[in-house]
Amino acid sequence: MKKLSLPKVNFSTALAEAISGIGSEAARLAYTAAFADPLAVETNYADCAKAATLYAQPRVTTIDDPLVHGTLRKSDLTKLYTQYFVPEGKPARRLYQDIKVAAGGKCPLCGGVGHVRTLDHYLPKANFPLYAVMPTNLVPCCRDCNSEKLNAFAVVKGNQTLHPYFDHERFFNEKWIHARVIPTTPPVLEYFVVPPDDWHEDDKSRVRSHFVEYGLAEKFSVEAAADLPETIQTRRTTMSAHSAQEFSRYLAEKGQTATLPVNNWRRVMFSTLAADPWFCSQTFD
Ligand SMILES: [Zn+2]
Repeated sequence: MKKLSLPKVNFSTALAEAISGIGSEAARLAYTAAFADPLAVETNYADCAKAATLYAQPRVTTIDDPLVHGTLRKSDLTKLYTQYFVPEGKPARRLYQDIKVAAGGKCPLCGGVGHVRTLDHYLPKANFPLYAVMPTNLVPCCRDCNSEKLNAFAVVKGNQTLHPYFDHERFFNEKWIHARVIPTTPPVLEYFVVPPDDWHEDDKSRVRSHFVEYGLAEKFSVEAAADLPETIQTRRTTMSAHSAQEFSRYLAEKGQTATLPVNNWRRVMFSTLAADPWFCSQTFD
């Protein structure tokens, strides 16, 4: 929903910092030897992310502890994150924090409904442990988005959620979130996805998957329900004598003047309200 700049720290540095926090010298050497060429791993990930083919990366599906990279097992790699990247007091902790704050506090996955509280592994570390501490696989996000996606991964191209670091600008700059007004008391905003006609089918499917995966219909509707009373109050008081057309213009302006991304729930809410003859003709007496 919101594009992020690439993390400032690269895989090589993240690995070195995490490894430097390991107590045993033998273990440090084993990790370092196994990662002879972090740049190649990082470049391959970036290429696949840009081509939306990360779903086809080799995954660990078994519950045992297989060798994944050189002499390193799945548990060695996930440990690198849980024991040497996240904990306070470890050298790599500052990198964890840097990546987290880079999103500016608002969760990029739900379009800022939630506040950033954690890092989400775009490819879950349980199935793709090779990328457990790769900065470009670590997406700052809110608790809701993190728990809703827990360990889920796509097995076909069209089911992949949006990748805030790598996905094309069109996903973030072209409108695909829409809404309708349900004429109840109070009125309700119902959100849904309509991707642009000229998009590739895979891209259309991806925004639908993202919308479902992160429960955006409900999240946006709840936000709108909390925000709507203010607009209704304005209509009831300062705008009570205005025509439906004037009220519609006022709503349209609110949507346009706000410096919000095109798929932001609030911007979509105002443009939807402005275009709804029923809502604009109500005086909410
Ligand atoms: Zn979120």
